[in-house]
Amino acid sequence: MKKYDYLIVGAGLFGAVFAHEAAKKGKTCLVVDKRSHIGGNIYTEEVEGIQVHRYGAHIFHTSNKKVWDYVNQFAEFNHFVNSPIAIYKDELYNLPFNMNTFHQLWGVRTPAEAQAKIREQITRMHITHPKNLEEQALALVGQDVYEKLIEGYTRKQWGRECRDLPSFIIKRLPLRYTYDNNYFKDPYQGIPKGGYTNIVRKLLEGVQVVLNTDFLENREALSAQADRILFTGMIDAYYDFCYGELQYRSLRFETETLDMENYQGNAVVNYTDYEVPYTRVIEHKHFEFGIQPKTVITREYSAEWKPGAEPYYPINDQKNDELFAKYEKRALEEPNVIFGGRLGMYRYMDMDKVIEEALNLAETELSYESCEE
Ligand code: FAD
Ligand code: UDP
Repeated sequence: MKKYDYLIVGAGLFGAVFAHEAAKKGKTCLVVDKRSHIGGNIYTEEVEGIQVHRYGAHIFHTSNKKVWDYVNQFAEFNHFVNSPIAIYKDELYNLPFNMNTFHQLWGVRTPAEAQAKIREQITRMHITHPKNLEEQALALVGQDVYEKLIEGYTRKQWGRECRDLPSFIIKRLPLRYTYDNNYFKDPYQGIPKGGYTNIVRKLLEGVQVVLNTDFLENREALSAQADRILFTGMIDAYYDFCYGELQYRSLRFETETLDMENYQGNAVVNYTDYEVPYTRVIEHKHFEFGIQPKTVITREYSAEWKPGAEPYYPINDQKNDELFAKYEKRALEEPNVIFGGRLGMYRYMDMDKVIEEALNLAETELSYESCEE
């Protein structure tokens, strides 16, 4: 008899949602994480009365009412709307690309004027079937927006030329001909009051959690404790990189507490110029409309992933996706191990998608289990 029904590797959002659902169904779970805290990348901690997003800015947004209702059981959300500012050399622009941006770029005032300007630039490009991010961006917004707001930022973020990146990355950004600086299109958006860690803490209430424990270093002893394993770490690491290494983008965060009330006047400021080494600066208090006497800021630097670093972004280009397919095939043949989350599924997923996927897994996995009993 094994001690637990499930061993869940990773106390991030995916692992925590699954653990919560499993516990609700009377399953016993052991959650382990190699970090010293729960929450994975959505971990927040309080500094000077401010919730600091330790692993980069996290704004909850979704179109999925079921996910929104689910997450609202664990936190009250404020009315924060993400409206980043972009700084290019000494110029300042609103994001995402909207009438404010077009006015700042060209002095145009009406949607018709902006559309004419962009159309004129697009026509000059003669791009009918965009094959990569550069062509996709040029075909969507034309030369000026591409050069000032996309090219430098994207090269820094991904460490690759825009023409070597898949076009879907840029399709995430809205383009609109209204004076609307809301970065997201989703109807539900906000920041959980009191931080994200509280959500994960509530999800894991009553579940056994062991921190500072790397599954890969204790594989045998940990596997022996549970009937089934949910692994939310790197799928290639689980298989000891047997088919080769998947590529990831890593990040370095430089966080400072400043003895001033307001540093940049906005939660997120993107530096779109290639020469500035960081991609963005976050001022955490503005996520919660804070009025504390001090402020905490984080500069975010992007870097290629190397062993020992944190793998933040899977790089879903063709080469990596093909390699992932080999790991996925092997995973499907594995009887008692399930892979989940951003790293286990090697897929760029926002928090809402992670919750949706974890709930889907819980539904199939746990109902199947109960049928078998
Ligand atoms: P993770 O949070 O990575 O959790 C995996 C956990 O597994 C980690 O705690 C890790 O330590 C642990 N682990 C891995 N390997 C092992 C091992 N061998 N042994 C033990 N433990 C292990 N989403 C949004 O919706 N809005 C945003 O604004 C947003 N901004 C983001 C900004 C940045 C910079 C990043 C990187 C992501 C952002 N996201 C955002 C996405 C969000 O972070 C993810 O959707 C979510 O955190 C993924 O949860 P997860 O559980 O899949 O993975
Ligand atoms: N992007 C850009 N300029 C910006 C912000 C984003 O060119 O000022 C591009 C960049 O390639 C990025 C993509 O748009 O990877 C998606 O942006 P998003 O803000 O969704 O990135 P994330 O929050 O996932 O880092």
